[in-house]
Amino acid sequence: MARLVVLGGGVAGHTAATFAADWLGKEHEVVVVTPNSKWNWIPSNIWVGVGGMTKEDVTFDLAPVYEKAGITYKQAKAVSINPEGNASTDKSFVTIEYTGQGKAGQSEEVTFDYLINATGPKLNFGATPGLGEGSNLGEFTVSVCTADHADHAAHELKKVMDKMRKGERQKILVGTGHGMCTCQGAAFEYIFNIEHEIRKAGLRDMADIQWISNESFMGDFGMGGLHMKVGGYVVSSRIFTESLFAERGVNYITGAHVNKVEKGKVTYELLDGSTGEETFDFSMLIPPFAGVGLKAYNKAGEDITDTVFAPNGFMKVDANYTPKPYEEWKASDWPRTYQNPTYKNLFAAGIAFAPPHIISKPMKSPNGTVINPTPPRTGMPSGIMGKAVAHSVCDLIKHGPSAHLHEASMAEMGAACVASAGKGWLDGQAAAMTVYPVVPDFDKYPGTGRDTDYTFGEIGLAGHWIKHILHYLFIYKAKLKPFWKVIPE
Ligand SMILES: Cc1cc2nc3c(=O)[nH]c(=O)nc-3n(C[C@H](O)[C@H](O)[C@H](O)COP(=O)(O)OP(=O)(O)OC[C@H]3O[C@@H](n4cnc5c(N)ncnc54)[C@H](O)[C@@H]3O)c2cc1C
Repeated sequence: MARLVVLGGGVAGHTAATFAADWLGKEHEVVVVTPNSKWNWIPSNIWVGVGGMTKEDVTFDLAPVYEKAGITYKQAKAVSINPEGNASTDKSFVTIEYTGQGKAGQSEEVTFDYLINATGPKLNFGATPGLGEGSNLGEFTVSVCTADHADHAAHELKKVMDKMRKGERQKILVGTGHGMCTCQGAAFEYIFNIEHEIRKAGLRDMADIQWISNESFMGDFGMGGLHMKVGGYVVSSRIFTESLFAERGVNYITGAHVNKVEKGKVTYELLDGSTGEETFDFSMLIPPFAGVGLKAYNKAGEDITDTVFAPNGFMKVDANYTPKPYEEWKASDWPRTYQNPTYKNLFAAGIAFAPPHIISKPMKSPNGTVINPTPPRTGMPSGIMGKAVAHSVCDLIKHGPSAHLHEASMAEMGAACVASAGKGWLDGQAAAMTVYPVVPDFDKYPGTGRDTDYTFGEIGLAGHWIKHILHYLFIYKAKLKPFWKVIPE
């Protein structure tokens, strides 16, 4: 009997574990180690953040689902990995610390034949003074990164809307809280929803809504922007995004590194080296992401974290990490199998793998401050990677070490981004974009780096419906309801 341990019960880890358990059957064991008791459909946190859904609508208990799937569930966080074992065992193991199941604080060593690291991001609020401490949100801003954060955001938003009702003009600031953030799409969708809710409540003239982002131009989205077909014409994401903001009367600041957050105020540095400040009554700023801080040790107990993980804490995989100038970056630098190059029984999927480089053009202010988005790894690619990696591990277990590894390069896969505002079948509008491939390939698609037949945008009610359908479909799939396997990632 072989044992696969999956670290993280999010999009990538849950996908990997549930498929692996199905493919391996009872002959082998799948273990999930994840600190939360609930699964969260994170994209719908946006609607929780404006009070359109409750946190119960976007989460469910993992334990019964894992029991049904025959998966061993440990409500714990991984702390370190010993891929070579230690002085007393040759077996690879991961050290975990329980966060629930009546064993909170207790440590355990869980041996494994294969390990998939799908621990996602550490929400690095501590990177910006005032934004928070370590991975904990600070007191001045809100977040929509977890269901609890989003619930808190909804309450704070209600307070400022109540003030608007009393005739007090309020200032809303949404965007990124550091020069090296990713996930601009989430902030973009949130500002859209806030504007929609305030307008729907008849309070639009009582709110100044301001966007602040580390993108060097509107619509970069951490992907270097894109050119997409809209109504038969090819339009840049910059024009697409700027038009959306102009139509809604939302002002924007781009190329900004937020370097300090205080009560009601942020200070920032811009790409041209100048500095500025913005005041706010309500602010949601996405924190930068880092790896969750797993350590690694060799058999002798020496720290080999630098061998297994990149300096940002994400796990090294089969990417080309050779440093080279932007002009020489290739789509082929991006990983295909997500296998660790040193330890062949370690894989990483979703946000947990270390990208070879960013996708947007690297930028610095004259003061040397790095201000550029880091690469997005959205839900669809994370799910696809999780499934491909699970497939590889199952084949390795069933057919031995020479088994073919499955591939899922972000330079050969598309992604869909639907920023949808409003709730209900007729009251809503979405800006929907599909991009293929996520990582541009300028050799294959000279000019824009992308296939314009499959890279398109649409604004309207249809995208809004799709986003709602996806909410129900993905939660249905994650609960392993009948025919879950036929629902794509
Ligand atoms: C507000 C918001 C909105 C978004 N909207 C969209 C959208 O509309 N479309 C889209 O495609 N993507 C969206 N995304 C991105 C999407 O949520 C991520 O791409 C996806 O969740 C990444 O999957 P993952 O498995 O890598 O990480 P996660 O889903 O974050 O899962 C990581 C898991 O690892 C666990 N973990 C953490 N530390 C440890 C540890 N030490 N040991 C074990 N487990 C650990 C976590 O608790 C979590 O369960 C959004 C993100 C945010 C924040």
